[in-house]
Amino acid sequence: MHELAITQSMIDIVLEQAEKAGAQKVERINLAIGEMSGFVEEAVHFYFEFLAKGTPAEEASLCINQVTGRARCHACGAEFSLKELDWTCPVCGSNNIEITAGRELFVESIEVE
Ligand SMILES: [Zn+2]
Repeated sequence: MHELAITQSMIDIVLEQAEKAGAQKVERINLAIGEMSGFVEEAVHFYFEFLAKGTPAEEASLCINQVTGRARCHACGAEFSLKELDWTCPVCGSNNIEITAGRELFVESIEVE
């Protein structure tokens, strides 16, 4: 259910930006979702429709871009792309890694009228 909270804060950010820009209507929202975030696109779409009702973002189209997971190895310092189910360093084989990208969900940009 964490999509509900994250979608709400995403809409808050969008509406704040739209207000600052003096926009009447939000046309499009470009959203980045990290591969490792666990957020389900369908759920974000579903909550968006529900939560944006009655706001200037009501008719906005939601464009979701997937962000690839990346990690850094604590043992040897290598940086690499994460593959699902393979969370070991491709250089030294250590699993002492830190995820550096791909866990986030953020608003990249919005287009307003
Ligand atoms: Zn390593």
